[in-house]
Amino acid sequence: SLQQSAPAFELQEDPEFWNDHNVQVLVRVRPVSASEVSGQGFSRCVRQDGPHTITWLGQPQTRFSFDHVAGESITQEDLFRVAGTPMVENCMRGYNSCMFAYGQTGSGKTHTMLGDIDDLAIRPSLQRGMTPRVFEYLFARIQQEENLREQEQLRFVCKCSFLEIYNEHITDLLDPTSINLQIREDVKTGVYVENLKEVEVKSVHDVVQLLTQGASNRKVAATNMNRESSRSHSVFACTVESKWQANSLTNIRFGRLNLVDLAGSERQKSSGAEGDRLKEAANINKSLSTLGLVIMTLVDIANGKQRHVPYRDSKLTFLLQDSLGGNSKTTVIATISPSNGNALETMSTLKFAQRAKLIKNSAHINEDSSGDVSALRREIQQLKEEINHLK
Ligand code: ADP
Ligand code: MG
Repeated sequence: SLQQSAPAFELQEDPEFWNDHNVQVLVRVRPVSASEVSGQGFSRCVRQDGPHTITWLGQPQTRFSFDHVAGESITQEDLFRVAGTPMVENCMRGYNSCMFAYGQTGSGKTHTMLGDIDDLAIRPSLQRGMTPRVFEYLFARIQQEENLREQEQLRFVCKCSFLEIYNEHITDLLDPTSINLQIREDVKTGVYVENLKEVEVKSVHDVVQLLTQGASNRKVAATNMNRESSRSHSVFACTVESKWQANSLTNIRFGRLNLVDLAGSERQKSSGAEGDRLKEAANINKSLSTLGLVIMTLVDIANGKQRHVPYRDSKLTFLLQDSLGGNSKTTVIATISPSNGNALETMSTLKFAQRAKLIKNSAHINEDSSGDVSALRREIQQLKEEINHLK
């Protein structure tokens, strides 16, 4: 049958997962749905050719290669092992890390980033996605490291926040009375959302509670305001701070993890949209189209051109500024549908993913040793750079 006709390639673990660009791009093909297979004239619009390559079967046939291509049979566990574990390890070492899912509505973004989190505390589902698995692994590794480095009194503290960007407005999903939050920038701490609730988490159970609470707040907001959740972006963020003693100094490292489920990338149909709906469509396009523009600009910069990057033109790009072309190790998961009915959107996602592959980030460990001059040195350096920038 058609279901069986897709060849299966294993995802290959890559010890050098992070190239010197610090950006990894993975394409995930969702399985064909029952209604698609039973539909008239069904065929596939893509064919996987190997662990890194995929061919779009429209006119003209086009071959793409990525860091990984995850075919229809790749499980949530496979995907976490390959893309999730290196991200958690890096974050624990003090690197900012970001993973975002990009693709049309129905292509598997939420399945990939969140998956099935119902009853997770009671009976972990095989379909649980990246986010719950990240925290299972993170807490297990924290325990391991703290035990291993007891002498240095190593301690980790993790704090989470969960927000939604809809129509260029930021809502706190952990406190839905907080609407229209503002993004601020601080020389030392970078970009942050003012008044966003941050909750310390100590177990997977704590995280699942936040995820469930956020998801339900998101649903309520969508229903009350008669809006489609496929049009909002969500960002689940976690800061992982580690402290330890060495030579009577306290060392601190600080990694930030952003897990982003983007709005559907499909073109908004302008027909039928009026008033608020039209404005809404334009604004939603604004965050996603600015993301596309930022990426194109970064590709120019990677090619040696001098360009201004329009991060501040949308909430999404302002917030994710570090993750795009900045101090972060970033993973893009582009999700696609294999069905011919979605061929054009699939092509558009593959092109987006191909551009994202060309971005160069410059990740470094965020650290601080109190009682030592390195923090001051860094601050002086930063101020010097700013002065140079003003010249
Ligand atoms: P999106 O968030 O991109 O709109 P969803 O994640 O909600 O899409 O996926 C749409 C449907 O397809 C859901 O029913 C989801 O469970 C299913 N699905 C998506 N990807 C996969 C996959 N890799 N394996 C099994 N089911 C999937
Ligand atoms: Mg979704």
